[in-house]
Amino acid sequence: MILSKETQERQSFNKEEAENLHIETKAIHAGTPPCPVTGAVVQPLHQVASYVFDSAEHAAGLFDLSKPGYVYSRINNPTVSALEKRLAALDGGVGATCTPSGHAAQLLAFYTLLSSGDQYIASNRLYGGSVSQIKSSFPAGFGWNGVMVQAEDIDAYKKALTEETKFIFLEVLANPSGVIVDLEAVARIAEDAGIPLIVDNTMPTPYLCKPLDFGANIVTYSTTKYISGHGTAMGGAVIDGGNFDWGKYADKYPKLTGQDTCYKDTNFFETFGNKAMFVHNHAVGLKDLGICQQPMNAWLTLTGLETLHLRMERHCENALKVAQYLEQHEAVEWVSYAALENSPYKKLQEKYMPKGASSLFSFGLKGGYDAGVYFVEHVKLAKHLANLGDTRTLVIHPASTTHSPLSEEHKIKANAGPEVIRISVGIEHIDDIIADLDQALSYKK
Ligand code: PLP
Repeated sequence: MILSKETQERQSFNKEEAENLHIETKAIHAGTPPCPVTGAVVQPLHQVASYVFDSAEHAAGLFDLSKPGYVYSRINNPTVSALEKRLAALDGGVGATCTPSGHAAQLLAFYTLLSSGDQYIASNRLYGGSVSQIKSSFPAGFGWNGVMVQAEDIDAYKKALTEETKFIFLEVLANPSGVIVDLEAVARIAEDAGIPLIVDNTMPTPYLCKPLDFGANIVTYSTTKYISGHGTAMGGAVIDGGNFDWGKYADKYPKLTGQDTCYKDTNFFETFGNKAMFVHNHAVGLKDLGICQQPMNAWLTLTGLETLHLRMERHCENALKVAQYLEQHEAVEWVSYAALENSPYKKLQEKYMPKGASSLFSFGLKGGYDAGVYFVEHVKLAKHLANLGDTRTLVIHPASTTHSPLSEEHKIKANAGPEVIRISVGIEHIDDIIADLDQALSYKK
């Protein structure tokens, strides 16, 4: 042990001090005090599958959940745990569980709350891959029935509720439509119905919006995007807000409130209180579904997070300038960016994400499909690919790529009409971004 007890204590924050830090400081320090063994100031990469037990008694305690510690990296790993602590701190949750992708985070959160035959409500303004999970793979593979409602129609959530509804799931700032949902209004509906609200906060990140502050109970992320921020590491996370009383609605959530025979009949809610979901996500979800995040990806994501606040500020600043430039361009038919003065979501943006509307949005080209293809084939600085939330500016023409197998009618319904370009504005110099877009918008019929 290199660091004395005194140095360890002086160089780390107690619970109250840690909670009072600003988000910019948490993004750098939360979850990663200096390593007491080596003095390493950066979280070491624990590229390891398994951990030696101190004794048979120690091992037994780890296996029956009566002792904290590490057994096997499918369940937990010190580098992944450090990222989990940092993510939980950023959102104000009681714990986080990292997964290998954003899709796996949704699978994990849904798995803990649903059994075969159960129903839940989902907003219809979601990332296309999430719609596919909800409409195809989840009902076919698990018997989970998602009822999709119009995202902006608050009454639609209420109308879709039944005795069987287990939760509501939505993206607060939707990819790619840019629709912002009135979070507090939906949270009230969920609370009155005695069910949790799960929010995919991938697009705003906790720097721009903290859904738990507006009544949400669980937050999911694709950390692949702005959280890791450099296009280097796939990942996802489920943040447990610790603010839903599973015990009050015990019959609805048997995985959290019933007896688990794999763990000596443990009742997770009685044993772990408001951390029940967080513990279950690890002890049962990761253990049985096997969807653990890789330590290397967690390490890259921790490094990326250190600049989250700086990146998000510049992403938002550049995105607004690009949107304003496109708005007045003769080749552009429409621009849908929530932070524009004329956006129908401007009021909700000011309420839920006053620091900015992130940097992904869509715009339509007057020249239609051919102009869209010309645009993505003529950008130089902007990269033509299927991702978002990278430091680089990224563009895609959904009608000729991600949505090309759909019928024309379904493309339009999915915000992927022939004229649509989706852009994720990066943090390069704004003049260079605009110069690149300018030359790619020069399509003439
Ligand atoms: N949620 C949103 C809003 C997304 O944009 C994505 C991916 O684009 C996902 C979830 C899925 O994340 P991943 O690609 O990390 O599985």
